[in-house]
Parts: sequence; structure tokens; C-alpha cells
Amino acid sequence: MEKPVEAPMEAAENSKNFIEQEIEKDLAEGVYDHVQTRFPPEPNGYLHIGHAKSILLNYGLAQKYNGKFNFRFDDTNPTKEKTEFVQSIIEDVKWLGADFEDRLFFASDYFEQMYECAVLLIKKGKAFVCDLSAEEIREYRGDFTTPGKESPYRNRSVEENLKLFEEMKAGVYADGEKVLRAKIDMASPNINMRDPVIYRVAHMSHHNTGDKWCIYPMYDFAHPIEDAIEHITHSICTLEFEDHRPLYDWVVRECEFENPPRQIEFAKLYLTNVVTGKRYIKKLVEDGIVDGWDDPRLVSIAALRRRGYTPESIKRFVELCGVSKANSSVDYAMLEYCIREDLKMKKPRMMAVLDPVKLVIDNYPEGQREMLSVPNNTENEELGERQVPFGRELYIEREDFMEVPPKKYFRLFPGNEVRLFGAYFVTCTGCEKDADGNVTVVHATYDPETKSGSGFTGRKVKGTIHWVCADTAKKVECRLYENIVDEEKGKLNEDGTLNLNPNSLTVLKNCYVEPALAEAKAYDSFQFMRSGYFCVDSRDSRPDAPVFNRIVSLKSSFRLP
Ligand code: ATP
Ligand code: MG
Repeated sequence: MEKPVEAPMEAAENSKNFIEQEIEKDLAEGVYDHVQTRFPPEPNGYLHIGHAKSILLNYGLAQKYNGKFNFRFDDTNPTKEKTEFVQSIIEDVKWLGADFEDRLFFASDYFEQMYECAVLLIKKGKAFVCDLSAEEIREYRGDFTTPGKESPYRNRSVEENLKLFEEMKAGVYADGEKVLRAKIDMASPNINMRDPVIYRVAHMSHHNTGDKWCIYPMYDFAHPIEDAIEHITHSICTLEFEDHRPLYDWVVRECEFENPPRQIEFAKLYLTNVVTGKRYIKKLVEDGIVDGWDDPRLVSIAALRRRGYTPESIKRFVELCGVSKANSSVDYAMLEYCIREDLKMKKPRMMAVLDPVKLVIDNYPEGQREMLSVPNNTENEELGERQVPFGRELYIEREDFMEVPPKKYFRLFPGNEVRLFGAYFVTCTGCEKDADGNVTVVHATYDPETKSGSGFTGRKVKGTIHWVCADTAKKVECRLYENIVDEEKGKLNEDGTLNLNPNSLTVLKNCYVEPALAEAKAYDSFQFMRSGYFCVDSRDSRPDAPVFNRIVSLKSSFRLP
């Protein structure tokens, strides 16, 4: 059989995700002559990595098709929404780089138009005021096997409905006393179509409109109208709204919008190893297990930013996840892979000793100090070099010395020679211990001939270790993180509480870093050689006293699928 030859154009065509294929079909068939997407968060909490996917997806599509991207607060439910969240959400969207220019909107600005749409439906005989209680409405609705029962108020006249709805708006009725319902089909196999409630009475102040309204539209009615008002073409949402699509289409059609938007659903992003549910995060915050919604162990966008993730790494991650119609969980290690890849070439590789023990070079002149030139990034010459002080007394990692080494241990042990990165070869001569047998000082001698950069080729050593000069090093706090829940044993205990990992945070207060790092500012990030990537904490750092959060360690068994 002849092997099919794939034209490069076709290959590119095939790699388009299903949403792009739908959009291109719509453009080709003239359904729309432009593309306009939106990100519509409800300001009832902080955004998380799943929202980042939605933001970047919608923004990316608008860019790809030379369209527009709207950023709209879906703030139609005053019970749950707060201005505090509006601010944090705006900050997060900006930080991710989704440039909404001046296209920031509030659904609550459309309350008047939504009201008019409701009146139009009433006039068309497509909506009615219903006096059933919430519970009765639920009973009448039926379920998957039983068709619904029509409300006794379903056949009120248009005039009566107009009058009652007007009264609802004027504040004549108490919360729950009356609702406005769409008149669709109580026998529909789709329960969402069984005369859904579209307006309710709620005597409540709204963060934007204050006390102007005491009736508020329901999500399924408000959302399509918001999209239509803004001339959105493709309203992209997550899978749980698939069953609501017929209602979405009904609303834009019956409200007589020209060129109405269409809804396309994709699968939510879930991650292993982390907690995303608002309910759980709130509990962690309230119980003081984490130090806020931006605790670096969480995956809110604020937490990822504080931890040291970059917008580029999140963008890459979202691209790698792709867009799918089937729910699944993505390995957290893939997110870590993305930040590692992003920082690898960009960040200087500094020396920091997290668990220090002193190394004394006995044949190095006492009181002498020299500045050594070391490369900032051995894989990227463009980052240049820096000067690092070197002297007789250094700090090295405690684990880089062993009195009795196991096989294949190439670091310091009596008689063994190693390279001090960017400096000299040193040979271990022994150690001092305290009364409990803990090593307090390691001793060594150095060979001046072996200075880094001197071209010395006399012999080779198997181990290279990092170090800092003891009297110039800056003492700092470093924080290391693990998963907040114990994924191995399952995220939840039998009683439904979170199965917390007791080791999710390790605070090291006795770390020594190169003097250059003393001036690091919030959000600055670095590789600490051999220990991982670290970022200066934006909340707990003080001038001249940076706190470093480990973003990610250097190694992982993760491979791209
Ligand atoms: P959550 O309950 O997790 O806060 P939500 O859907 O209630 O999520 P909204 O503010 O209503 O949050 O959602 C804003 C947009 O983000 C919606 O279009 C929603 O579909 C999308 N979104 C929310 N969670 C995810 C996720 N995990 N993956 C992809 N998109 C998501
Ligand atoms: Mg929500």
C-alpha cells in the first residue's frame, strides 16, 4: 500500500483543536464575519489554574483570529459577590498577559437590558410570573424519568404577567414570593427546558448597582444576554453547561438578538496533587493551615505568582494540556516541568547553602579574601559572569561531607578531592565533632594551581560542590514545599476531611546565600545550584531580609507525554 504523503499545511490543519475547527467552519460558512470571545468570571473567589486555562484559551482564540477579547464580570448574583474579588481577578488577568485593553465589562451594567428582554418574553407569551415556592417548583419539575407538571400560574394573561413583573421590580413582593419563569416545555427530556426560573426577587444590595434592583436575573438567562449584547461570537464554557445549551439558544433566539452567539463547551482542567475546590481552600485558610489564598502551596493564580511561577510557564502548561471534550486530571509534575523549562536559561544560578556546615581551608592564608569570577548560567553565556567572594572559611551543604562515605559518593570525605564550583580543588583532611557526634567543622586543603579559569588540566575530580564564603554570606530563610494533601493515600479521609501532608512546608531559617542575593526583591527568582529554583516571597520578605520560596526542585522523573 502506498504511504500517504502528508502536506505540511494539512498537518497544521489537523493539529487545530476542536474549538478552532468550529470557529473556522463558522467563518467559512459566513455564520460570523469576526471572532469575539470573553472571559466571564463571577467575582466570588480567587481565580485558579483552571481559570487561567479559560482566560488564555479565550484570549488566544481572539488573537489567533484577529478578533476581540472581552473581560466581563458575571456579577448578577449579589449574594456571593464581593468587590475584593473584583480587584484580585483584574490583577490576575493582567498578570497572565491577557490584554483586554478597555474591554472590561460588568454584567450588572446590563440589568436594564435584561429586564427589557424579560418584558419582551412576557409580551410574546414566553414568560410568566409564578407563585409556586422554590420547593414546589422543584417538585413540579419532575426528573429524568418523570415529566414535569405545569404550574397552575402558567396561563396567566400577558397583561397580568406584565403587571406582576412590574410589581416584583417595584419591591411589592418578598424574596421567594414570586418568580418569573420562561414558558418552554414541562415535558422536555432536558430538565433545563422545563420552564426555568429567569428572575427572582432578592432584596439585597449589589456591589455595583446598590439598591436600584430588588429582582435579579438567573445565570442561564443573564449569561446568553450578556454575550449577545457584547456581540460575542463564540461563548466558550466548561462541560457542565452542555445541557444548558438548548436554553442558551432559546434565550438569544426568543429575545430576538441578531447574529446571536453560540456556546461551545470544553473539559475543565483538573490537576493531581493539589486542592482546587473553593470549599476546601476556604477551610484551609480558616483553619490557619495555609497563610491565605495566596499560600504558595495552593494553585490560585495569586499563589502561583507568589510561589514564583511565570505567566509564560502557565501559558506553556495550558498549551500542553490542550483542549478536550473529556474530563481528566493533568499531572502536577507537568506544571513543574513548565516552570523549570521557562527558568532554565533565563535565571542566574547562584550559590546558596540550605543546611550549612563550615569548611575551613587550612592552607589558605588567614584574613585573605579574593573575588572569583563565576558564570551566571553555565548553559547560557549571555547572562555573563559575576564576582563571588572566596576566603578561608566557607559554608557547604552538610550532606556534601561524609566521614564514612557509601559507594559512589564523590563529594567530601577524608582523603578525597573535589572541585569547589568556580574556585579551587580541595582535599578533605578530616572534621571536628561536638559531644553528640555531630560534625561541626570540616577541614580541607586547597591547591592554588587548580583555580577555575586558569586552564589547569593536571587531573580531574569526580565531584563538584557549591559553597559560600562564611564571613560575607547573608543568612536568610528558605521555605520548601510538598503537596498539601497526601496524594498517595487519597486526597480525602473517610470522614470527608482533607488528608493533609504534615510535611507540606519546611522552613529553613539558617540558610546562607551569596551576598549579591541580600538585595533580591519580591518576585525575583534564581536557580540555587543543585537545590532548585527559588523566588523571593512577596509577603514575608523585609528590606535586607529576603525570604526565599522554592518554586520547584531541579530534577523530576516527569517526561512529556
Ligand atoms: P470554580 O467553582 O472552580 O470557582 P466557576 O466555574 O464557578 O469555577 P466562574 O468564575 O464562574 O468559576 O468561571 C469563569 C470561567 O472560568 C467560566 O467560563 C468557567 O467555565 C471557567 N472555568 C472555571 N473552572 C475551570 C477549570 N477548572 N478549567 C477550565 N475552565 C474553568
Ligand atoms: Mg462560579
